[in-house]
Amino acid sequence: MKSLWNDEEARSYNDDLGMRVYTSRLLGRDPNLVLHGGGNTSVKIKQKNIFYQEQELLFVKGSGWDLEFIDREGFSPCRLDHLVKLSKLEKLSDPQMVNELRSNMMNANAPTPSVEAILHAILPYKYVDHTHANAIVTITNTQNGKDKILEIFGDRVVIIDYIMPGFDLAKQCAMQFSREVNENTEGMILLNHGIFSFANNAKESYENMISLVNEAEEYLKNNNAWDWFSTENQAQTAEINCEAVVSLRRKLSNAVGHPLIVTKDETEKAKQFLLKDNLSEICRQGPATPDHVIRTKQLPLYGLDIEEYQENYKQYFQTNAALASEKKNMLDTAPRVVIDKTLGVFAAGKSVKDAKIIHDIYSHTMDVISRAEKLGGYKALSSKHIFDMEYWDLEQAKLNKSAAAPEFSGEIALVTGANSGIGNATVKKLLSMGAAVVGLDINAEIESNFPNNSAFVGIQCDVSDELAIIDSIKKTVAQFGGLDIVVLNAGLFPGGEFIKDLNLETWRHVMSVNLDANVNLMKTIYPLLSQSPTFGRVVIIGSKNVAAPGPGAAAYSASKAALTQLARISALEWSESGIRVNIINPDAVFDTGIWSDEVLTSRAKHYGLTVNQYKTKNLLRTEITSIDVAELISNVCGKSFSKTTGAQIPIDGGNDRVI
Ligand code: ZN
Repeated sequence: MKSLWNDEEARSYNDDLGMRVYTSRLLGRDPNLVLHGGGNTSVKIKQKNIFYQEQELLFVKGSGWDLEFIDREGFSPCRLDHLVKLSKLEKLSDPQMVNELRSNMMNANAPTPSVEAILHAILPYKYVDHTHANAIVTITNTQNGKDKILEIFGDRVVIIDYIMPGFDLAKQCAMQFSREVNENTEGMILLNHGIFSFANNAKESYENMISLVNEAEEYLKNNNAWDWFSTENQAQTAEINCEAVVSLRRKLSNAVGHPLIVTKDETEKAKQFLLKDNLSEICRQGPATPDHVIRTKQLPLYGLDIEEYQENYKQYFQTNAALASEKKNMLDTAPRVVIDKTLGVFAAGKSVKDAKIIHDIYSHTMDVISRAEKLGGYKALSSKHIFDMEYWDLEQAKLNKSAAAPEFSGEIALVTGANSGIGNATVKKLLSMGAAVVGLDINAEIESNFPNNSAFVGIQCDVSDELAIIDSIKKTVAQFGGLDIVVLNAGLFPGGEFIKDLNLETWRHVMSVNLDANVNLMKTIYPLLSQSPTFGRVVIIGSKNVAAPGPGAAAYSASKAALTQLARISALEWSESGIRVNIINPDAVFDTGIWSDEVLTSRAKHYGLTVNQYKTKNLLRTEITSIDVAELISNVCGKSFSKTTGAQIPIDGGNDRVI
């Protein structure tokens, strides 16, 4: 572990709070220190209030902020003396604590202070940093972990036995810290939880954290407990078993009552973890640090028996809820991490973001478990402690803060011809509605579309290449776990060509892309769609030409007519699996790939119109755009059309020949 401090970078954060932002981000940048919202930091600053009276404030990380991306507004300014006074109370319930924290802020719009705010307040240093460093939780999650910490740090750290975060922990720390602090003190270690460092300037506090964690890492290395697998003997990569994964996703989603994104961990680390002899024991111990439980649940599912997992979860709930001081309501009983020797390691979340968080947490958990095993054996906290954290209202509040989930959250869509026009607009629309989207296109640009969006995967693929389609489907399943929505949009429009002049080569090519490729795709995706937890939906982009053909586009019109018939038959055949297949017939959408200026001019000329007249040549005299079509596609896949299948829906501004 290295200090990421950079003098030049640091200079742009000039005041005390700015420095707090800077070193918090440095901590956040290292996933071996904190992951997704874990850890918290603070700084104590004197400021004048509205009466020009000076008061000392604790700027502490607001709940829900992530250290990596935190800004000045992410810190809640609390009256320090009030927080210190609170730590002297005999008792303080959670609702009382939250009320005291919220009502003693200097900014009514600041976020709710971290649940560890009082703990930050009692430490007599300007800067306080707290992380759940992997190396520290690895060592403390072993038999005699406390002795090992003593061996490494001696009296340079104050050691606190495990207590759940919140008021009681702050009180215990205040008591022990004032008793045990000495001139050598550099930090405080919370067994099975994490570490605090502190100092009177930001750099020193941050670098104390790095050096303490470094010592813990060195200890692991010296005890041959650091490298737990060798990249030289790579594990064999098994082909993804699509059928088994989509069935797993369906069962998990049904157990949660929400479609889930199920992501396979395809790293060498995960493959090596699966090879461990005592895998079933070590993966069923518990999380590395308690606040992971709200993401990962206490235990992963080992094997594929979800019903058994759910039974065990109910048991865990009943046993521990009976010991709790207030009534608890059981959360869903489904696992979020699945470990199966043959199938792989999977993370399941209600959105791509959730699944990624769970995937990242478990990726680090595999290191923690494996290293602790090399240090004498991984030993997580008891179920009782984990339960208290999982069912702590203040932890659950972190998850419930997000606004209502968008309509397609947790669903997976595949769009062909996704790089431009209707396809591209559809990808954007579905992403904005919460879906994970796989976009196929023959143009390689597709792979660099939406570069910072982990909910999108672009695959360059010729839809008429059967093997490439199978490969794309495997990638979709490995990445997201299944398929719920398919938009068959890729198509060719070769331009005006009368039958007497028709080139048979062109005819066959149009048929192969517009028709044959779609037959193959539908055949390939059926097993996935039939396992969709939300029932599969297919939207086929037909054409106005099906109902109202014009002269000079025989191959295009005939291919779309055959495709329409194929869609109608699939609506009949697939209804027993609850899959809806609908056809959308757009006309005169000119911002699509097939409408080159050349084609546009030639079609306009064919009707004896100007290009502009041709564009609005419909009853409503309106122009139809790709976005309009994407909007309709999303509606057809959504709730408003949930009882419609086999329909042919025009989006053409009104056409007297179609009506
Ligand atoms: Zn913590």
